[in-house]
Amino acid sequence: MAHDSLVRPPAADRLHATCPVCDSDVPELRLVLRDHQSDETFAAVTCGTCGAVYLEDPPTPEAIGRYYDTPAGAQMHTKPGPLFTAMRDRRFAKDLEPLLTRLNPDAPIADLGTGDGSVAEHLHRHGRASLGLDVYDPSAWRHPDVPYRQISFAGPGLSAEDLAVAGTQARGAVMRHVLEHVHRPADVLASLRAGGVTHVLIIVPNIGSRLVGPLGSSWYYWDPPRHLTFFTADTLRRCAARAGFRVAALDTYGLDELATSAHRALLLRGGARAHKIARALRPTGPIAGAASVLQGPVGDTVLHAVLVADDR
Ligand SMILES: [Zn+2]
Repeated sequence: MAHDSLVRPPAADRLHATCPVCDSDVPELRLVLRDHQSDETFAAVTCGTCGAVYLEDPPTPEAIGRYYDTPAGAQMHTKPGPLFTAMRDRRFAKDLEPLLTRLNPDAPIADLGTGDGSVAEHLHRHGRASLGLDVYDPSAWRHPDVPYRQISFAGPGLSAEDLAVAGTQARGAVMRHVLEHVHRPADVLASLRAGGVTHVLIIVPNIGSRLVGPLGSSWYYWDPPRHLTFFTADTLRRCAARAGFRVAALDTYGLDELATSAHRALLLRGGARAHKIARALRPTGPIAGAASVLQGPVGDTVLHAVLVADDR
């Protein structure tokens, strides 16, 4: 594959990734994807062994931070309005329901990649012991009632100590729009299993979505290189099985794919006017922001699953 005319970073900042689901190294090129922020290109490949789709040439764990244009600190201090907060709370309740109904009410829940901490805080407010975990410094955490721990998703994954709340092991974990961002999703899940977690709520973009074909490389949820693994229901099952979990519940629902993909397409096309229009369509902008917290009546943008330890 010739990359000569494409924007490339220093080779040392890129990895050659094997399949994040089965570890094979039999990539078949599916699409060359351009990052609408950095303009760099990445190869989305299909694993010839298991069919998983992933970025074959992602940034290294050390280099990937600079592809995230929204610093966690800025997100942390943006206070959303009351209507957005109410809509978001309903979204969280629906997302969490299949996890909470399966879990002992006393079992602590770890929110991995907690971001602004709103899910961990939602759980706490509803009487659940919760814990926020993310990569940023604890000084940015703004929920004094909820414990927070700084972790890394690279390397061997999480430890049992990372997953304890006041001396009690977390039994539940939430990975909401997180698993697609990590280099080794099966390893992260396996470390949760080893740390005593029995139930994991997963929400990831669904590359089996009906709009992936029509939108092509503009599909917003390609979002390279922030997204590294692209799941279907089948890929998620295989990934879970490798880590000692089975999929106990699985459905799909719609999020906005059209406004966000139009945003990505405009940025890919470039130009000052495109950037101006793109601001209104950006994923946190007025259009997609409202759409993203409402469950679409149709659509299958995301996979929504509960994984349960396979010995239970
Ligand atoms: Zn594979």
